[in-house]
Amino acid sequence: MDEKTLRVVTRAALEPLPGLLRDRGFTVVGPTIREAAIVYDEIESLADLPIGWTDEQGPGGYRLRRRSDEALFGYNVGPHSWKGRFHPSDVLLFQAQRNGRDVEFTAPPTESPPVALFGARACDLAAVAIQDRVFLGSASIDPIYATRRRGAFVVAVHCTQAGGTCFCESMRTGPRATRGFDLALTELLGAGEHRFLVENASERGAEIADRLASRPASSEDLAAARAGVERARTSMGRKLDTDGIRDLLYRHAESEVWDAVAHRCLSCTNCTMVCPTCFCTTVEDVSDLSREHAERRRLWDSCFTLGFTHLGSGSVRTSTSSRYRHWITHKLASWHDQFGSSGCVGCGRCITWCPVGIDITEEVGRLREAEGSRAP
Ligand code: SF4
Ligand code: SF4
Repeated sequence: MDEKTLRVVTRAALEPLPGLLRDRGFTVVGPTIREAAIVYDEIESLADLPIGWTDEQGPGGYRLRRRSDEALFGYNVGPHSWKGRFHPSDVLLFQAQRNGRDVEFTAPPTESPPVALFGARACDLAAVAIQDRVFLGSASIDPIYATRRRGAFVVAVHCTQAGGTCFCESMRTGPRATRGFDLALTELLGAGEHRFLVENASERGAEIADRLASRPASSEDLAAARAGVERARTSMGRKLDTDGIRDLLYRHAESEVWDAVAHRCLSCTNCTMVCPTCFCTTVEDVSDLSREHAERRRLWDSCFTLGFTHLGSGSVRTSTSSRYRHWITHKLASWHDQFGSSGCVGCGRCITWCPVGIDITEEVGRLREAEGSRAP
């Protein structure tokens, strides 16, 4: 980042940004409040953002609270990630219609208008990079993901506060976004002026930034932005010691820790549904009662279900302990072997949205304790 190119845009001068993106053909998707949570949905203007709200998060707990200011981005990540935009939870693959003795097959249109992610956090951009490797990084490119991902514009927001279950600092994915965006904003609320430090990282980002009224960033602006990100970095709600974590998980394939966690785990699949990197799917064929019409759909699936490993003679992972062990071992160990990185970006969603508050960072700590090595 070249600090000389950073500009400051006031709260009022940021107002046109969603419209500028829409004018360029993007569907603008950003944080908004629905059913007492901050989710990602189509937004028309800055007024659709959760202005003046924050989120309190802990194991199995999530609450929205009013802030004492009018911050646009004064919260962390909610139950949605960008996964659902590029890898939808339910996709129609094709339909079949009986027509006399023939059957006609039709596939839905694959085109999808380009999307602008508005307010993407560093951990979630790291997750998008991971999903890019999964869906686009091998010989078998996923056409559904590729179509939706193509041309996406990203407005990142550097976090200036951390949530109660965040640990991106441990996973080295945040709180500052370092890549995968066109524009990045740092929200500055102090010094009597609500403003944003704007960084552009692409030609199209610069083209849009040039259309916002701005001034050069002062040394005070830059210091305030650095202090905000540092505040987030030093106030993470969780920590994960990643030292030797891949081999730690492999060494504990037979640990009693898995039985202990299975006593609490409900196999509800919440952790995998909210995880921004989990990508497993199943395929279902459904026909109507007349048997004239059928369709095939691709749906998110989870390694926590019994049916996930169902082979000819039954399921391979019949116990909850084996399913939890598989999930955490894939996330933190075998993902490295498969995709060259951790499968966890430290967003904390699986901790917040687990109904019984199972905490991935604590479970790793229990393995370390069981081994008599360092404390979590
Ligand atoms: S495993 Fe949990 S903390 Fe890690 S990326 Fe998935 S939801 Fe986030
Ligand atoms: S760890 Fe929690 S969220 Fe995941 S399946 Fe078990 S009970 Fe559900």
